Amino acid sequence: MNDHKRVARVFVDVPSQQTDRPFDYEVPTAMRDEVEVGSRVRVPFGPRKLLGYVVAFAPVSDAPRLKPILEVLDLVPPLTPELVSLARWVAQQYLCPVITALHAMVPAVLKGRYQRICRVHPDFAEEDLLPEHERELIRQLREKGEMSPEQALKLPRVSRFLLRRMAADKRIIIEERAGDRVTRKTVIWVGAAKTSEVLRREAKALPAQARRQKEVLQYVADHPDPIPLAQLLTETGAVHATVKRLAEKGLLTWEEREEYRDPFGGRSFERTEPLPLTPEQHQAYDAIAEPLKRREPRTVLLHGVTGSGKTEIYLQAITETLNKGRQAIVLVPEISLTPQMVRRFKGRFGDDVAVLHSGLSDGERYDEWRKIRSGEVRVAIGARSAVFAPFENIGLIIIDEEHESSYKQEEQPKYHARLVASKRIEAHGAVLVLGTATPSVESYYQARTGKLEWVTLNQRVHGRPFPQVDVVDMRNELRGGNRSIFSRPLKQALMECVDRGEQAVLFLNRRGYSTFVLCRDCGKTVECPHCDISLTYHRTNRTLRCHYCGHAEPVPQTCPSCGSSHIRYFGTGTQRVEEELARQLPGLRVIRMDVDTTNRKGAHERLLTAFGEGKADVLLGTQMIAKGLDFPKVTLVGVIAADTMLHLPDYRAAERTFQLLTQVSGRAGRHERPGRVVVQTYTPEHYSIQMAARYETEPFYIQECRLRKQHRYPPYCGLFTILLSHTDKGAVMQAGMRTVRGLQPYMPEGAEILGPVPAPIPRIKDRYRLQVMIKVPPHTDEWNGLTEKLRSLSFLLGDDELRVSIDREGI
Ligand code: ADP
Ligand code: ZN
Ligand code: ZN
Repeated sequence: MNDHKRVARVFVDVPSQQTDRPFDYEVPTAMRDEVEVGSRVRVPFGPRKLLGYVVAFAPVSDAPRLKPILEVLDLVPPLTPELVSLARWVAQQYLCPVITALHAMVPAVLKGRYQRICRVHPDFAEEDLLPEHERELIRQLREKGEMSPEQALKLPRVSRFLLRRMAADKRIIIEERAGDRVTRKTVIWVGAAKTSEVLRREAKALPAQARRQKEVLQYVADHPDPIPLAQLLTETGAVHATVKRLAEKGLLTWEEREEYRDPFGGRSFERTEPLPLTPEQHQAYDAIAEPLKRREPRTVLLHGVTGSGKTEIYLQAITETLNKGRQAIVLVPEISLTPQMVRRFKGRFGDDVAVLHSGLSDGERYDEWRKIRSGEVRVAIGARSAVFAPFENIGLIIIDEEHESSYKQEEQPKYHARLVASKRIEAHGAVLVLGTATPSVESYYQARTGKLEWVTLNQRVHGRPFPQVDVVDMRNELRGGNRSIFSRPLKQALMECVDRGEQAVLFLNRRGYSTFVLCRDCGKTVECPHCDISLTYHRTNRTLRCHYCGHAEPVPQTCPSCGSSHIRYFGTGTQRVEEELARQLPGLRVIRMDVDTTNRKGAHERLLTAFGEGKADVLLGTQMIAKGLDFPKVTLVGVIAADTMLHLPDYRAAERTFQLLTQVSGRAGRHERPGRVVVQTYTPEHYSIQMAARYETEPFYIQECRLRKQHRYPPYCGLFTILLSHTDKGAVMQAGMRTVRGLQPYMPEGAEILGPVPAPIPRIKDRYRLQVMIKVPPHTDEWNGLTEKLRSLSFLLGDDELRVSIDREGI
């Protein structure tokens, strides 16, 4: 029986080069039925007991002596065989240990270290028969839900021996649990086990002193449907033991049910029906439905202007997928995973949807994930990591706003969700839809060269014209004597908008733009003592903070470099824009949305709701207001400074600027009233700004591709960026040279290696940073072992002296 499962190959939870291979373990006979490929197990490893994942089985092993698996940790393996092989691919592709890739696919609660906890055995109710100190322990455990053994040992006369004995007697349970996080929540439900008549008769037959039992029976006779135990106790004033006793007599049902923590629990979503599609939408829908029918892996770029009805197409394509008995994943950028967005999917698919976003507690996230794993829901919607949703029969993956940079993970594994998704659709014979109004240059290029299907939607569903975009040259404003953040045209438009009783959105790009402190005598900014970057001024608590290392200090009275007292705050943080608005246009009601005002749970939604209800005239914010919002009364969009991103050392700067401007313009005039956009900039001649203002999408991409080709950037090459850091400046320089020399022999034909040069931020957290770049021809098969070499380099990560991290793009 199950002989092929005698030996399990396991990746253990140690991310190093030596352990980046499967180790063989014996599977004890009793475990062979529960262990699967994808199971999480506990195994002995040297002196330690570690968590690991089973990736394969074998009838025999070459290893001389096998240790047995100690425990299978989950009833249902968290990973499917497909995800296990995907993890190995991710590790290869993004140069990380396999265990790191495996971990990226499961919810946080399953990754933690193990911790022991004690709780009352669910069947135990006879505490009144226990000695005093044991009764006290049970009482405390009931009150708290659970305690660590260490906490329990602090109680009078509680010893380890006592805990073990109580566990053996089934009074308490001692179990191991991931970290200190709650993995699941169980609730006891109680109902009538006999007819109401029988219960009433039994109640009468009880002796007079059993008053509580009588009352409970009476209550249940009147309300025979199961209710949570806690509710029954409140209703009747009875204690746990009383109810338990009645259940043991066979009069009441006693059932432990798993409860999902539902972040949207208690809210009902208005059901929506499919809308009849416009001819344009229909053609796009067909491009998805056709390959879906044929079970053919296919990628479709759905290139549709904002308001062209892409979401309605997603919804109907998902319906078709579900009708075929398959499942769907929808990825949206974290910041546009707004309640508005969730409502559209919950409205169509109700309880068939699991929502995964970073606002969830670990427990909530785990519950949503379990609904996916158990097949209880068939649609998963979430940010980047939802691409790993453990469905077993995927028909459709949708990536909305596919150009968004948040689909790239910035830490290991540094995967791009788009690439992972295209790998998954191959395994499932599924369709991948890339939806956007402003494709990434890569996707545009692939569509252009016929590597993916390309469908365009050029019309807005309601036929609203696009708002007029005015570009304001801020240098002219300065010359005209206007030193304020607001140009005259923007101020004018703002006043008119509010006078008409309409609303405005003011957009400020956060990246590369924040408030800093500048000395007017020596011209120096106040920098972080640990990083080569200016500190950011936070008005609310009057501190200067480093956004890279968290360093904080009080605002200085004098310049730290020259001692001058002529220091002033510079730049245009959201707080400053808000102050200036109040000064220039007093009486304006402003809602500010940025990291400071939205870090509390639910704040995001509250602010948006307030704005939607007309409680403010202006919504002022960063990236997070740039997309997905749809407010009928918004007729003006102002961009405070369009070019802040253009100066970042990033080959995507122009692309990002174009995308952002196009997205924000889409916010204005979505409904009856015509809209207007005012873009303020110091570089009005830049092609990304010019072309965005004139809605010249095609010309922009052509221009951008030409420049990428000329300077050799993706999609015209594959790009590896190696970042080295060290606490010692000389040591990192040497490591950089050694890296370049060491890699030189492995360069494929036509590849070039650049550097080492200081990274864009040369020092962070007292570590000096150096960069080496490798450009390789796209679609090379001839790697000459380069990736293998890079992979072994990347394992230096985690070493305290030298750290290496490698990023891969464009291939
Ligand atoms: P996009 O996702 O492309 O920005 P949306 O899906 O949000 O566009 O659609 C814009 C608006 O048009 C929404 O209010 C949506 O309900 C509506 N809409 C979409 N398709 C149709 C249709 N076929 N008939 C009527 N209204 C539609
Ligand atoms: Zn100074
Ligand atoms: Zn710092």
